[in-house]
Amino acid sequence: MAMPIRPCPYCKTLVPVLPLSPERMDGVMRAIHGEQPALAVLELMDAAACKKSEALAWLAHREVCVPCLPLQGPDAEVLSVVVDAFAGMERPDHFTDITCCEECRDHDATLAATCPDTLQRKDLGHVGWNPLSFCTGEATAYLFPALVRITLHRNAWPCYEWYGCQLLWKLAQDKSANTFWHFCTPRQRQAVAHLLAHLLEHWADLISDYQCDDEYLAALTLWAE
Ligand SMILES: [Zn+2]
Ligand SMILES: [Zn+2]
Repeated sequence: MAMPIRPCPYCKTLVPVLPLSPERMDGVMRAIHGEQPALAVLELMDAAACKKSEALAWLAHREVCVPCLPLQGPDAEVLSVVVDAFAGMERPDHFTDITCCEECRDHDATLAATCPDTLQRKDLGHVGWNPLSFCTGEATAYLFPALVRITLHRNAWPCYEWYGCQLLWKLAQDKSANTFWHFCTPRQRQAVAHLLAHLLEHWADLISDYQCDDEYLAALTLWAE
């Protein structure tokens, strides 16, 4: 029997709705995080009693639609603090200063093709090609909840590094040059400080594994002042 199909509330893609218990979902996630795509398909077909084509469609959507990935407990709580503080930010005309250089125009084009609900890990590049480092304060505030959401999914994209490194680098910029800090209201700065406290409490191992300790301290000093 075919599974019902519904449009995703975030990216509007038509996705099969699969009946999955939390335990079976864990098994599917373990296969995904273990970079065993074939096993993930089999797990999913068995767990949901669905067809291969349905399992493939479900997995393809899961790979690209960040708001659909479940977050639990304290991670979900800190995200909601950030979402509340940055609610209602207007979409900027441009994400970077497009009069600056070719690289700024490239990064602007990449981000202009997305919105916070469809932003993907791959859009955010890596330390060597890092659209966020060129974003204006206004654009960073607009994207911030989506950036935090991606940061909180530490294992969802095994072929990319933890996004927290790039985020911390941005937050740690010197006060004089930190356009994001200057753009933020006191309440938004508090939400960022709350996020930083959360990262230290729950994710200190990741911060040192990725050797971001200096950026972390600089960011904390600025945002928690
Ligand atoms: Zn979606
Ligand atoms: Zn530039």
